[in-house]
Amino acid sequence: MRVYLDNNATTKIDPLAKVKMQPFFEELYGNPNSLHQYGMDVRPALNVALGEMYDALNVPDADDILITSCATESNNTVLKGIFFKHILKNPEKNHIVTTSVEHPAILETLLYLSDFGVEVTYVDVDEDGGVSAQDMKNAVTDKTILISMMWANNETGMIFPVEEVSAFAKEKGVLFHTDAVQAIGKLKVDLTAMNGIDYLTFSAHKFHGPKGIGGLYVKKGKELPNLLHGGEQMGGKRAGTLNVAYIVGMGLAIKQAANHVDKMNVDVRRLRDKLEDAISKISDTIVVGPREKRTPNTILISLRGIEGESMLWDLNKAGVAASTGSACASESLHANPVMNAIGEDPELAHTAMRLSLSRFTTEEEIDYTIEVFIKAAERLRSISSTYAYTNEVG
Ligand code: PLP
Repeated sequence: MRVYLDNNATTKIDPLAKVKMQPFFEELYGNPNSLHQYGMDVRPALNVALGEMYDALNVPDADDILITSCATESNNTVLKGIFFKHILKNPEKNHIVTTSVEHPAILETLLYLSDFGVEVTYVDVDEDGGVSAQDMKNAVTDKTILISMMWANNETGMIFPVEEVSAFAKEKGVLFHTDAVQAIGKLKVDLTAMNGIDYLTFSAHKFHGPKGIGGLYVKKGKELPNLLHGGEQMGGKRAGTLNVAYIVGMGLAIKQAANHVDKMNVDVRRLRDKLEDAISKISDTIVVGPREKRTPNTILISLRGIEGESMLWDLNKAGVAASTGSACASESLHANPVMNAIGEDPELAHTAMRLSLSRFTTEEEIDYTIEVFIKAAERLRSISSTYAYTNEVG
């Protein structure tokens, strides 16, 4: 049996999206900016797909949704756009507030911008991997131009207080961006209700759409300069020939994702909880974050004495795909970056495993995973001299 439990990294394509995309690789290959029939033939599908994105986020037509190549591009567009539009012109307001556990697409971009005089406050997470709204608010000063806070964390699944902090930002006249890559399809995202959000990032491959296509919501009046200059595509706001097939796929996938939020929060949550209950009974395990504060599909668990990667390989041999959530953070062993940020015990960062389900995960797959997970943990504990030693000395 093969079981895919790495859905926070990427997801399989929704079969309906695949079917809908197919004609755009074949007869409907025209450039939507062309004036001839081939161009005209594809334009309606583009409009339908954009409409699906507006509906899924519940935003008015007056706002913008830019199509990008991925969430990384969307995040870069916001941060570099704010730099060019605001900070470069008014260095008095050069401060950005973010969290210490954002995706590298935020953290690395801010590091780059700090060489150009941008000042950044990184608000820390607590021991559950959560972020306090009050800490975010306290970090804002008269110099703050932007708050950028992810909606849900990719490693822990912890949901961040976007509603409260975005409302505060609006009140203070500070711009607010959220990287919502891990929220779409898992949480209700309604930007008319949460009208303090000025910019929102999403990426199709995280919600059963194709890879290499993403989006950036931009509120009316909060327009940003182009990251990519060139042709007149996207109303001149993002140059480059539109990938109609992928846009069509993303449109259907986001519609499906929005329609399945309840399923995620009932059926997928039940399977996640079943898996979590079973594997957290293994002795000396720590699951990060209370489950009701997490996205319904995610578990980040540490098994003391077992390297995350050893566990990953044992699971992989049995056909189960999980993740250590690692960016190569140390010389020889991979440490989970969010576990590192949570701090306290460095061993936890090296023994962390992420399991992330999707709406396509089945009960049978979860039962099988429980069986192989427990077996792998027993096998690895029995050969781990460090664990035996730690246990002896207490
Ligand atoms: N932001 C978050 C929270 C993510 O989880 C990811 C993907 O891992 C990204 C951004 C980057 O997404 P993309 O691959 O579309 O650039």
